[in-house]
Amino acid sequence: MAGNITFTMIKPDAVRNEYIGAILAQINEAGFKIVAMKYTKLSQEKAGEFYEVHKERPFYGELVDFMSSGPIVAAVLEKENAVEDFRTLIGATNPADAAEGTIRAKYATSIGENAVHGADSDENALREASFHFAQTEIFK
Ligand code: ATP
Ligand code: MG
Repeated sequence: MAGNITFTMIKPDAVRNEYIGAILAQINEAGFKIVAMKYTKLSQEKAGEFYEVHKERPFYGELVDFMSSGPIVAAVLEKENAVEDFRTLIGATNPADAAEGTIRAKYATSIGENAVHGADSDENALREASFHFAQTEIFK
């Protein structure tokens, strides 16, 4: 199973800007199958736990506030080479550096409010998928 799933969130900025539909369409058009999905909102505590690896970074407080500022869409995606291909599809963290046509180039506002999350390794994809979903909610 490792290697064919990734985990994503459509972040509060993109939800507020009504980009859910456009982003999901681009994800499907790129060949990803949605195998789990929920529209939900992270508490401060849950957002802090999710981004715990960044606890020592100067932007951690801002990141936790932002990620708990409104609803998100969490999803598990399936495709061969999912993690790497999805990172390519979303583009660089800072939308100013994101390649043309990528989700962040099209829909992100700033380095902090950058429209989507993408897991950065197979191990983290599994960890993040089980953070948000029970095994019975993943249909692969
Ligand atoms: P993500 O993990 O959300 O997919 P990423 O892997 O591209 O993003 P990370 O380095 O993991 O980038 O940073 C996590 C998130 O923290 C970024 O997506 C962004 O929202 C926020 N962030 C990163 N760097 C900065 C920064 N310099 N200033 C403000 N926010 C930042
Ligand atoms: Mg990351």
